[in-house]
Amino acid sequence: MATNLKIDGDRLWASIMASAEIGKGVAGGLRRLALTEADKEVRELLARWAGEAGYSVRVDRLGSMFLRREGTEPDLPPVLIGSHLDTQYAGGRFDGILGVLAGLEVLKTLDGAGIQTRRAIEVVNWTNEEGARFSPPMVASLAFAGKESVEWALARADKDGVTIAQALAAVGFNGPEPVGGRKIDAYFELHIEQGPKLDAAGIPIGVVTGGFPTKAMRIEVTGETSHVGPTPMDRRRNALVGAAHVAVAIDEIGWRYAPSEGKTTAARLDLSPNLPGILSDRATLYCDMRHPDAAQLAAMISDVEVAIQAAERRSRCAITIAEQWGFGGFSFDDGLVGLVRAAARDLGHATMDLKSEAGHDAYHMAAVCPTALIFAPCRNGITHNEAEDMTFDQMVPAADVLLRAVTARADR
Ligand SMILES: [Zn+2]
Repeated sequence: MATNLKIDGDRLWASIMASAEIGKGVAGGLRRLALTEADKEVRELLARWAGEAGYSVRVDRLGSMFLRREGTEPDLPPVLIGSHLDTQYAGGRFDGILGVLAGLEVLKTLDGAGIQTRRAIEVVNWTNEEGARFSPPMVASLAFAGKESVEWALARADKDGVTIAQALAAVGFNGPEPVGGRKIDAYFELHIEQGPKLDAAGIPIGVVTGGFPTKAMRIEVTGETSHVGPTPMDRRRNALVGAAHVAVAIDEIGWRYAPSEGKTTAARLDLSPNLPGILSDRATLYCDMRHPDAAQLAAMISDVEVAIQAAERRSRCAITIAEQWGFGGFSFDDGLVGLVRAAARDLGHATMDLKSEAGHDAYHMAAVCPTALIFAPCRNGITHNEAEDMTFDQMVPAADVLLRAVTARADR
């Protein structure tokens, strides 16, 4: 390929800024939860851009969108570039969005240079990557990888009881294509680092070698409703208090493992009836644990189990781990990681090897095909926050590396 092939940075930046106009938050970022009206609007914009450029758009049963630029040998398995256009409740303009729109920019750059690749290249926008509306996160790539069934994914409900199936129908993205089940040659994802290391070091390219093992769980606490006044302290079974003991214990476990980079989060608490004047009979707590070493993660999880027993005794509630899921704890494909490294070297960009501490669709795709994850710096590592930011000069090198690595792979 032409060694001087570069993406059009202005065009990519403009597309990210156009996305940033849809589903604006309150502080300069985005609130574009999966399968809401705002998500529908940005999906329609992506489909329009694809149509104008002449790429086919197919939507699978979980709403994931696949934009395809045909190769000279259409029967060969395609190369995929993907990420997500949904955001957190208080999210940034780049998390996920950079990866999808840089993918589109790769296709347009190849068009502009008149380059045809042997393999088709597809850009995928995965549904509900964030998990901010439907749990778990990365649910569409999870099903694409065959780790859970499509029916299971369609039945996931948000906190108002709306299922993914209903939400997909409401926004018109309940597509006909099967989820997964076809051969994919390779998967590339470009994402902001969501940590401070690249920005602090002034290094433009993060070569992601693997992911932190992560375990998440839904904990159910069962108590009993009762009047807050006359009920004696020793007869109370307040589910809120049981969940609070667990939440604090989980935080303390994170502090204990922090010297070896362990982290824990008590992230969400749903209560019933959640009213003054009455003790709660039900609490649902969502939490997750991360550690670079799988054995240490297992030790953290047994600490959580012990903490649950202590919380049961103190609150007189029944507390169970109702559901668990996990990701990470693997290495990305050596060949593809090497290709990313070579692309950066050829373009004269410094790289830093990193392990991802956040979950990405690339984690699930690593079970399907050779997969690589590329990180670009973001300011101070701030993310899942409307202040999330990156500069034009931080965006361009990573997108160029993506272009170069993908093009090389698509001609394989
Ligand atoms: Zn993301």
